[in-house]
Parts: sequence; structure tokens; C-alpha cells
Amino acid sequence: MANLASTLNEEQLQILKDAALDFALSHGLVVRPPPPAHTNHTDSYDAATLQGGVINAPVALFPTPFPVKAFNNAVKIQPLYNQLVHDISQDDAFLKEIMESLSTVDDFVKRLYDLYLEVKKEGIAQSASLGVHRSDYIIHLNSGQDFSEAEIKQVELNTISVSFGSLSSLTGDLHRYLQATTGYFSDKIDSSALPSSDSIESIASGLASAHKHYGSKTAKVMMVVQPGERNAFDQRWIEYNLLKKHRVVLIRKTLAEIADHGRLDPKTKALYIGDQEVSVAYYRSAYATTDYPTEKEWEGRRLAERSLAIKCPTVAYQLVGTKKVQQVLAAPGQLERFVKDPETVAQLRASFTGLYPLDSSPEGLAAYEAALMNSDELVMKPQREGGGNNIYGKDIQESLRTLTAEQRNAYILMDIIRPPITKNVLLRKGQLQRADVVSELGVYGIYLHDGYKVIRNDNGGHLLRTKGVESNEGGVAAGFAVIDSVLLV
Ligand code: ADP
Ligand code: MG
Ligand code: MG
Repeated sequence: MANLASTLNEEQLQILKDAALDFALSHGLVVRPPPPAHTNHTDSYDAATLQGGVINAPVALFPTPFPVKAFNNAVKIQPLYNQLVHDISQDDAFLKEIMESLSTVDDFVKRLYDLYLEVKKEGIAQSASLGVHRSDYIIHLNSGQDFSEAEIKQVELNTISVSFGSLSSLTGDLHRYLQATTGYFSDKIDSSALPSSDSIESIASGLASAHKHYGSKTAKVMMVVQPGERNAFDQRWIEYNLLKKHRVVLIRKTLAEIADHGRLDPKTKALYIGDQEVSVAYYRSAYATTDYPTEKEWEGRRLAERSLAIKCPTVAYQLVGTKKVQQVLAAPGQLERFVKDPETVAQLRASFTGLYPLDSSPEGLAAYEAALMNSDELVMKPQREGGGNNIYGKDIQESLRTLTAEQRNAYILMDIIRPPITKNVLLRKGQLQRADVVSELGVYGIYLHDGYKVIRNDNGGHLLRTKGVESNEGGVAAGFAVIDSVLLV
């Protein structure tokens, strides 16, 4: 495999860097800088940064080689995952069994599941649901296998607030621009090896489909945002494309603002923020415990969930995205509950790596005992999103010793996936850094169901995130990873 990053000299790297920085700043491939130390996110930091300070989004300078077969497979199975999420979300009994056992040990899951039950009991006002998902994969090579034969293994399936759709498309554009203008990557790359990702448009298009289904010309799409969001430009591109391509206006509201200014029409349960009717509630927040600092934020979530607005996602879809559901699906016979076609089962199962419960079942106890002996090839995960929550290596054993048997239920264990290591140069805050890196592919899925039938089930483009080998976690927002694009080989 050609090692693109290590063949260039410092002068060539400097040329690439200057071109990349200008491209990033002029195309909105940017983020707000991290807040200065000791600043409260929601007050002085916002005031200062809203005046225009941005930095380049952290990106890889070179596209990263990715096996074409594995890439095509990930794209191919995305509609299967979209459908699976929906089918699971409709299975009360399945969710009940999992969520009741989690609820005793995980307050956050309990709140979400209680909300799910409350809305069911009250009667669901809106039968349609919109999914904007992202299934994340790391490639796995068996020993002696050629790179081109590597297989995708699913890290997780995200059903709420998937990010970087826009910055991913722009990073692909950046790499194609650098290749065309400098030819530095390789003289052998033809453009089909650098596939573009349409995620900058597909998410807007999904929102537009849901808005159209809602059926009011005057209503607006509402993006539910975090106060002090640094990744606001990734979100803004969705707003701009929604307006430009679909003539639909998007408003940004925090959970607290929904609580303060929201109300439901007593008859139809249409959601109004002030006098503005909301067609689609699209969450770019509401996935982490920190998104609910007070009861007010829960009140905002509850109001939207009970409403006639189409939710992206519903709380049911959010629950389907938990790691526990992923683990249960991997157990024998479980996936078959939802997928009848054996061929489809095989395709999905081939993307699973080893997943183990930590409950009181024989499998759970065996996994616990095995991890106490050796946890080097495992990762232990709680039911949390957004990066930085997992436990690795020896720390797993320490955690397992301190948790009670009941508390262990809140976690799952998973085999570590160890991808091939490549070299790249990372561009963060205007600075270059050579690094040995590994990558994680994300494939976006767009899915709209009206409660009776599927209206859309599509691919929504892709994302490649790349991080230094020494870091366990891969979050871009968390500062570990950079946005990259695939060089198909
Ligand atoms: P989150 O919902 O917080 O993003 P993930 O399951 O994606 O949780 O884990 C966060 C990161 O941890 C991933 O992006 C990846 O870098 C690393 N990771 C998680 N599971 C595995 C695994 N099985 N093998 C290797 N790395 C993993
Ligand atoms: Mg996640
Ligand atoms: Mg993740």
C-alpha cells in the first residue's frame, strides 16, 4: 500500500497545509475554538466566540487508504440497519425486557424509557418517525490476510444526533482539491478512488421529506441544539441546504428554550415555539446526561416527544441505539427475531464483532470471569453516547471488582477491533502533526416511516474519522480524532 504521508518533504507539507487552511476557512470546514480555561460555556464564551472566531476543523491532510470491498459492503448494508432500527422500535416486549433491567442501574436510560412509556400511554400523536443514523465500523484483518480482504466490524449504531455529515463532505472536497492542485498524494489516484459523500445534502433531504410528510407550509424544522455548541458549522450547512434545496426554514432551539416557550395545541398536539409551528424536531442534543442539567431540559424533551412534530429520532429510536441492544442482537437467535431472510441475517451478522453481556445469565457470568482473568482485548461500555465513556484494558478489571453484580448490568463487553495502522499528517488549529493512525468509517442512513409503510430508506453518505494509535477513543469533538476521507484501494 502506498504510504502517501511519509514520502513528502517539509516544504511540500507546508504547501499542502497553507492550501488546506484557506480551503477550510473559505468553505466553512470550521469549528469554534475550545473555550479558554475556566470559562462557563454558556455566558462569556458564547458572547466572545459569536463575534466570529473560528478555527479549521481538525482534519487529516491525506485521505486514508480503505479497502474498497469493505467500503461497498458498509454502504450496502446501511438500509438493512435503518430497517432494523425501525422494526426493533416497534417491539414493545423486546424493549421492555432490556430497558427494565437497565432502568434499575442506569438513571438516564430509566428517564428515557419512562418517557417512552408515558408517551405510549398518552397515545402517540405522530405515527411517523425520521431516522438519521450512522453506523460506525473499524476494519479487521485476519492474520495473513491481504489489506484488500479486510472486513468491517461494527463499533456501534448511532440513532441520535449523528454529527459531521457536513464537515465530512467538505473534507472529501478538500482532499480532492489538494490532489487536483498539487498531485502530491499520488500520480496514480483517479477520482473514483476518492468518493464524495453526499451527507452534507442527505441529512437536509431527510428533514425535508419529513417536513413534507408533516404537511404544513408555514411550519418550520427545529434543530434542538446544545448551548455553546462548538460544532455549529457542521449543523449550519444542514440549515442552509434545507433552505436552498428545499425552501424549508430551520430554527435552532435548546431544550430549555422549548420548555420556556413551547406549548402543544390542545386538540392536535401540534408543537409551537412562541407562535412558530414545528414540523420536525431534529435532535443535535438530548443524548447525554449533561444535556439535561435540570428538570427544565427534561420538560422540553417531554413536550417535543408528546407532540405532533415528527421526531428525529423518537425516544424509541434513541433507546434502540443503546449498546445493550447491540449486544443483545448479537446473541444467538435475537437478530432472527427481526430479520426473517437468512441472507440478510448473514450480511448483518458478518459485521458484528464479539459482544458479551455483563448480567446474571450464564453468558454474563462467563464473560465477567473471563474479563477478570484477561481484559486486554476488550472494551467495556456503559449506555452512553458522545465519546469518552468507555473503559479499556486493565481498568476493566478494576471496574468489575468495584461494581456489584447488579451494577454490572449497566455495561456490556466487546472485543477490541484492531485495524491496520497507517501514517498521516493531522492538521489541528493550524498546526501539523505527523502520526501513526487508525480510522473509523461511519455510514449515514436516512429513513422515514409513516407508521404504516416505509417512505424512504436510503444511504446518506459516509464519514471517516482518524486518530492517533495511542488514543483509545475516537471522538472528533472530544479532541481525539480528526475528520478524514477514504482513498479506496
Ligand atoms: P460513543 O457512543 O461514545 O461514540 P463508541 O462505542 O463509538 O461510543 O466508542 C467510542 C470510541 O471508542 C470509538 O469511536 C472507538 O474509537 C473506540 N471503540 C469503541 N469500541 C471499540 C472496539 N470494539 N474496538 C476498538 N475501538 C473501539
Ligand atoms: Mg455513539
Ligand atoms: Mg461512537
